[in-house]
Amino acid sequence: MAGREGRRRGGRTESSPATGQVGDPGQVVAHHGVAVLVRLDSGEQMQVWLSPGQRAVVGDRVRVAGKSLEVLPARGVLRRRDARGRERTIAVNLDSLAIVVAPEPREPPGYIDRGFVIARAADIEPCIVVNKLDLPGGRELADRLEEIYGAFADLHRVSAQTSEGLHSIRDALCNGRLGVMVGPSGVGKSSLMNALVPDLELRVGELNRGTKKGRHTTTTATLHALDGGGYLVDTAGFKDFIAVDVPPRDAARYFPGFETALEAGCRFRDCAHQSEPGCGVLAALEAGEIEASRHRAYSSLREELSSSPHSGEPRRRG
Ligand code: GDP
Ligand code: ZN
Repeated sequence: MAGREGRRRGGRTESSPATGQVGDPGQVVAHHGVAVLVRLDSGEQMQVWLSPGQRAVVGDRVRVAGKSLEVLPARGVLRRRDARGRERTIAVNLDSLAIVVAPEPREPPGYIDRGFVIARAADIEPCIVVNKLDLPGGRELADRLEEIYGAFADLHRVSAQTSEGLHSIRDALCNGRLGVMVGPSGVGKSSLMNALVPDLELRVGELNRGTKKGRHTTTTATLHALDGGGYLVDTAGFKDFIAVDVPPRDAARYFPGFETALEAGCRFRDCAHQSEPGCGVLAALEAGEIEASRHRAYSSLREELSSSPHSGEPRRRG
């Protein structure tokens, strides 16, 4: 990792300009409850105990000085809700959120749009991975999604089974970029992780299996290095990610396909693009620039965000 920012220079450890604290810079690569595993920028890995009440998650940039750990401010935060309905941070400092889909099983309606909106709201770049290209319908699915989303995001056509297209995921996660894969159970996320990360050996599930017993049951994420220089967060064991902090009024701003229409603007600043006069989105719909199905998808996503108990709450870590 020669030349990386924050290395020791001239025998002295650099201080963090944000906090003034001295320490070796690194990143949290795994979380073990009371301690975290930190990979220093020098390449060395070490376990560091968290102080009481201190919080750190995978992806956090840190400084380690002796036994003390300083967690630096983070961006690109992805959350989920745990079994008891509490908000949990999965990982931070994410650059890329790959929404994985497959011809079998198909994702629920609106799944991809929700992923886009969550990612964009968190300042993470969304992309689409169409896996199981070897199955019938794989290429057709990729073509259809390319039509809808191709102008706004990268679409990777892959097969974990035949290894087709995996290089495009590696290429997208180069130069230390940090990515995470989300997608419905059974689309092949574990298989892709295994294919992309050397020596990983995550359990691969079977389709339509009623019980989840015996499956990978980690409750914390781990960060894995890829051959090409990027990192992937393993989220096996997490059922879902959620839009805990996307207020419904932001749904349109982040919705894939509304970008141009919104540039034209609406008469009302708080326009929900439903039936308001002078609405740029409805004008684009009328003109055939936005398809009716896309507007319907937006309306149901907005509805979904409105019924979320946490919508509009300020961001919190933890
Ligand atoms: P996950 O629940 O998203 O982690 O999915 P898994 O990785 O557990 O895979 C679910 C099933 O899909 C398993 O039976 C895999 O063998 C199968 N599978 C994964 N990737 C592919 C692929 O590219 N092609 C085919 N045909 N099957 C795949
Ligand atoms: Zn409008």
